[in-house]
Amino acid sequence: MRVKYLIIGAGITGCTAARLLQLHGEHDVMILEAESEPGGLCRTKKIGPHFLDIGGGHFLCTRFPEVSEFIFSHIPRSEFCEFDRVSKIAIDGEIIDYPIEFNLWQLSVGKRHKYLDSALGAGEVQGHSQPVEFEKWIRWKLGDEIAEHYMLPYNRKIWGVEPDEMDVDWLSKIPRVDAQAILETWRSEKSARDRFPSHEKFYYPLEGGFQRVFDAICASVRDKISLNHPVTRLERRDDVWRVNDAIDAEVVISTIPWATIHTAEGNDLSLEGDISKLRWSSLVVSLFEENYSHDWHWLYCPDENISHHREFFIHNFARHSAPGGTYRETNVKRWKAGKGEIYSHTNPIAYPIPLRGHAGAAMAVHEHYAARRLYGVGRWGQHSYFNSDVCIHEAMLLVKHLLS
Ligand SMILES: Cc1cc2nc3c(=O)[nH]c(=O)nc-3n(C[C@H](O)[C@H](O)[C@H](O)COP(=O)(O)OP(=O)(O)OC[C@H]3O[C@@H](n4cnc5c(N)ncnc54)[C@H](O)[C@@H]3O)c2cc1C
Repeated sequence: MRVKYLIIGAGITGCTAARLLQLHGEHDVMILEAESEPGGLCRTKKIGPHFLDIGGGHFLCTRFPEVSEFIFSHIPRSEFCEFDRVSKIAIDGEIIDYPIEFNLWQLSVGKRHKYLDSALGAGEVQGHSQPVEFEKWIRWKLGDEIAEHYMLPYNRKIWGVEPDEMDVDWLSKIPRVDAQAILETWRSEKSARDRFPSHEKFYYPLEGGFQRVFDAICASVRDKISLNHPVTRLERRDDVWRVNDAIDAEVVISTIPWATIHTAEGNDLSLEGDISKLRWSSLVVSLFEENYSHDWHWLYCPDENISHHREFFIHNFARHSAPGGTYRETNVKRWKAGKGEIYSHTNPIAYPIPLRGHAGAAMAVHEHYAARRLYGVGRWGQHSYFNSDVCIHEAMLLVKHLLS
């Protein structure tokens, strides 16, 4: 069997690429998906009366107008509710609004000054140059006190590796800490919402869960997906890629981690060092039933004495879900079935870890294979901490390149 475009993975990146090819009249497309259903990290399951996003907390928000236009041309904006983000941080035994630096005034009188001193005395505000090690970067960004009670433990929990093993290049889009704004919020006791780093507002579907976004994009390419069909072997033969010893593809678009592709291919040993830097972490999402009477969307939990790092309050952004549903995200290394947990889902590939040297390694691998018409795209193909909107955007760029 021969196809023009073979896509590995029926997540939002792979299905968007297929949809875009279709919109440009390219119908000779096949998508191979390892699991028994498509959607990847964008899946939702209805568990009892609760809609659970099994890939963790997913909200729609994008800075790319073309991505908004693409999504809303598949599912109307009127099928979403728009929210002003209400997220909280549990720090030092108290709960305050996110982001920490604009809400220090919410801490109790005995604590708030040490955190203000931390933020205002930090390296960035003092004009020191940016360190290249992640732990030092964290201390440089918001000072030792905030680093030790919030950012260091939180990052250890989410990534499951020591901060010193990680790079800082992926943080370049985080805005500068603005000392003036910190002081203004401190004096006025009002958060600076216009300076939120991201997701200040977000959309969430009025029915179902985040999967509605995926389903809308995927609907017209569903018949191109072959489920329960993992790619286990890729081999370059003349001008095609032979996939699983059965399908010849002129172009392969991969949306899965490179380490899984490389072992399948079993050659190009020169890339092994680079590929070993492209590691990921796994995540468990667990559902609970607990009453709450606040309006929070989610809570960051840096305390290393508890296993999860974030908790979501489903009914506060999905009113059609029953009251009292919460879910927690926990790195698989820290997870133990908790009391009251009524369902859990493990995502084997959840966060691409930005280990030292990952960006150069990803680029080297990408270029090597792109020259052979095997293109990596999306969160795994580019090994980048992309949200689904960025994955859509990257799929747009790739398809434009392929058709040019
Ligand atoms: C906790 C968490 C919170 C997030 N929050 C948000 C958010 O608020 N907003 C947002 O927009 N994005 C969010 N994201 C990011 C978003 O989930 C991803 O950017 C996006 O879903 C990635 O899509 P993908 O198709 O590239 O990868 P995936 O969704 O991982 O899809 C890859 C697919 O490939 C399949 N596959 C794997 N191996 C093989 C194989 N060998 N052969 C065939 N198929 C294979 C998998 O089964 C999967 O279906 C979040 C992610 C996480 C983990």
